[in-house]
Amino acid sequence: MGEAPAFFVDELQKGYGNGFDIKSKGGETAILLGNRTYVIGGACEESPLSIGVQIFDQSTGEWIYPTVLGTKPKPCKGLSAVLLSEDRILITKNGSTPDDFAWFLEVDTQYVRQQKKILGTDVVAWSKGVRGYPEKPVVISGPSGVGKGTLISMLMKEYPSMFGFSVSHTTRAPRAMEKDGVHYHFIERSAMEKEIEDGKFLEFASVHGNLYGTSVEAVEVVADDGKRCILDIDVQGARSVRASSLEAIFIFVCPPSMEELEKRLRARGTETEEQVLKRLRNAKAEIEQGQSSGIFDHMLYNDNLEECYKSLKKLLGLDGTVTAPPKSSSKVVDLPMDHSVAKIDHRIIINSKTPELGKASTNIRIVLDVSSLKGGAPGRTRGLDIYTMDSFLDGLAGINH
Ligand code: ADP
Ligand code: 5GP
Repeated sequence: MGEAPAFFVDELQKGYGNGFDIKSKGGETAILLGNRTYVIGGACEESPLSIGVQIFDQSTGEWIYPTVLGTKPKPCKGLSAVLLSEDRILITKNGSTPDDFAWFLEVDTQYVRQQKKILGTDVVAWSKGVRGYPEKPVVISGPSGVGKGTLISMLMKEYPSMFGFSVSHTTRAPRAMEKDGVHYHFIERSAMEKEIEDGKFLEFASVHGNLYGTSVEAVEVVADDGKRCILDIDVQGARSVRASSLEAIFIFVCPPSMEELEKRLRARGTETEEQVLKRLRNAKAEIEQGQSSGIFDHMLYNDNLEECYKSLKKLLGLDGTVTAPPKSSSKVVDLPMDHSVAKIDHRIIINSKTPELGKASTNIRIVLDVSSLKGGAPGRTRGLDIYTMDSFLDGLAGINH
């Protein structure tokens, strides 16, 4: 590890209060929180494609290099920081586009505390700030061969702009028609175990002798695309998601009979005889759990496919004429190259410090509303609202008239 920036040490002697953004120099900035100063910026030595984080502990006079988790922001030409609460710091990147300018460095959230215990090291975690909220994901479970994939395909075909599929990871071999990255991310067991250990999975389970799991990223990319996420996972996975912070709708699909299930599984022709028998044996327990565990909000009986599809659409509120929810159209300018941030209640005011080279010297002011944040590391922090100061003042004027 390299030396911590020396100039911060001088600044630290001055004894600033909690949350003070000490100084930005050479692309770094620092935030004081209790006895600790978080120095954020430049490139991380271990992964140079992300922003570095180091901590100065004033009680010991030592520098700490924490384990950095979450999706990491790429380095930029300078950044600003403001303490949002005792558990997270908001970082804004100079000269970035609206979809990359707000990042959260979690220093004491529940996730960070949990990971500290597991890893036995100091931990911080990055989470990207995103505008708005996606609709609740839909979890679909049921025994192998019941028709989950068929129903999901029908839904995605009829509403391509509304739904996106969470592409799971699996250690099983691909079937003839399956494409890597589309149907599954096919992965070696040891590599998947390592990713699970690194906290990259929302849930995972051993199903019919193979490992299957939903990565945090698989769900987030669908929401980033403005779509509602559909997860096709087994009952154990559904239980884990139920226990997680992800709010979802849980649907269990039942076959009309075990005989019909066997017929469908064999007719699909994708499994060996041994695998078919294993899946049928597991089906009994899955159906029992599906019906009695209290995990599921809705039961569907897939006897007649068209009828079942109609019921699925009804419980998703799609039985009327539906159009995709409009994407937010309010335009926000790029963040100024050099800016300062100030926190006023639940709003962050971003002010350009200097006019950009070759541009008229307009003072760009942007408001970040952080009153309704949801989620966080290892996924995105959602619910940010971003607008220009002008549109904020226009809104206030509208209220007063
Ligand atoms: P799952 O994803 O639950 O394992 P699939 O969607 O692959 O199941 O369906 C298994 C087989 O059953 C497929 O060949 C599919 O065409 C067929 N199938 C699905 N639903 C029905 C239904 N209601 N009636 C008859 N066959 C069906
Ligand atoms: P298949 O091998 O037929 O594609 O899937 C077998 C079983 O694994 C199905 O019940 C399916 O729902 C489940 N499954 C697929 N992806 C995941 C996942 O990411 N997590 C969990 N827990 N189960 C999954």
